[in-house]
Amino acid sequence: MFVIDWIIALWDWLWDHSSAKGTMLVMFALLGLAMAWRISLAVFPYKRCPRCKGAGSYGPGNLRRPCGRCNGGRLPRVGSGR
Ligand SMILES: [Zn+2]
Repeated sequence: MFVIDWIIALWDWLWDHSSAKGTMLVMFALLGLAMAWRISLAVFPYKRCPRCKGAGSYGPGNLRRPCGRCNGGRLPRVGSGR
């Protein structure tokens, strides 16, 4: 998973460059990332439903059924509070 790889890479880098300055830099990077995440949640509070691929219904042809997991193909993103 991409995020985990990124965290492990960051952890390795931090381990190799253990200094007050390096720690500060990482802290700021994480803070910036968290802020970017919060802003993206505010702008895009919904994600595409993985079950129906955002279509609001799923199944082949005439067997299409409304998706019971989402509301019209949109699901609230984790942390969006919706
Ligand atoms: Zn759905």
